[in-house]
Amino acid sequence: MNTNTPIELRSDTFTKPTPNMLTAMMNAAVGDDVFGEDPSINELEHFAAQMFGMEAALFCPSGTMTNQIAINVHTQPGDEVICEEGSHIYFYEGGGIGKNSGCQARLIRGNRGQITAAQIAEVINPDDVHRARTRLVSLENTCNRGGGSCYQMSELQAIRNLCDEHGLSLHLDGARLMNAIVAQNNDPLMYGKIFHSISLCLSKGLGAPVGSVLLGSKEFIKEARRVRKVMGGGMRQAGFLAAAASYALEHQVNRLAEDHAHAQVLGKTLASLNWVEAVLPVETNIVIFSIKAPTTVKQVSDYLLANNIRVSAMSATQIRMVTHLDVTPQMIDKVVEILGNYNK
Ligand SMILES: *Cc1c(COP(=O)(O)O)cnc(C)c1O
Repeated sequence: MNTNTPIELRSDTFTKPTPNMLTAMMNAAVGDDVFGEDPSINELEHFAAQMFGMEAALFCPSGTMTNQIAINVHTQPGDEVICEEGSHIYFYEGGGIGKNSGCQARLIRGNRGQITAAQIAEVINPDDVHRARTRLVSLENTCNRGGGSCYQMSELQAIRNLCDEHGLSLHLDGARLMNAIVAQNNDPLMYGKIFHSISLCLSKGLGAPVGSVLLGSKEFIKEARRVRKVMGGGMRQAGFLAAAASYALEHQVNRLAEDHAHAQVLGKTLASLNWVEAVLPVETNIVIFSIKAPTTVKQVSDYLLANNIRVSAMSATQIRMVTHLDVTPQMIDKVVEILGNYNK
């Protein structure tokens, strides 16, 4: 590693295509996907749907779009969407729940981003003309603002059972779902059974440059395809991107375990430092820690940046580091060393 190479820990969205992924992209067969004629996109959609035991899939430009399309298809204007208060669909999608679908969010404060069936049961509105219709529950796994935490399968099943009792749809923002699947050694098919729709990002730790897939029933995806066009997400020869995404799903899933091991090293190092207040439990590739006053987030971030290490501020007191395929073991060693030298 050149010592001037920036160590990029702000997000796993910074990954660049590997040489083999670029070769797959260059060799992609393409066509007009709005006409359903891009073979590489059709192949990706088929592969992703099969992997989760879902009937159909839809390739989209971003995870924000797959989430927003799902909300739109599941709801009617005036409906209520239950989600966690720090969830991406509420916190980071520009007010899209209201703007795109005319729905309101019913927020629950979770534990590291996770909400329980019992908490959801409390906020399902009764059938009463005064109240908004509760229509959709949306969960996130892993939970970004929860420090990459993972739901237990038993809780997810309990939430699905509750949704069935009340006729609610259940969506999963699975931007980093493959991280949870690798960390817990779960079968993707189990997620396909529990959720009515799943959004999966290919452009995070999986390492594709662009794209997310939305999974669901044939009927759901047919409607989602219509909404994608309305939102301006119908792409033409995007098979070059789908080829990268297929490559990622076929070759870059198991290696996520390395990112998790790297995150563990960072978490343990941080927990031993006297200027660190606390580290959220590290379960996958995200490490969120808080800084002890009088040391500030800015001081720590600036110090790291001066050493070519890039991190992001998560709140007034918290910093986030995310590991990914472009972060090497040598880089982790360097981060550990630089962290240890702060305030010495
Ligand atoms: C990144 C992310 C998304 C989607 O983001 P895009 O940048 O629109 O692809 C959705 N949910 C979570 C939890 C994310 O981290």
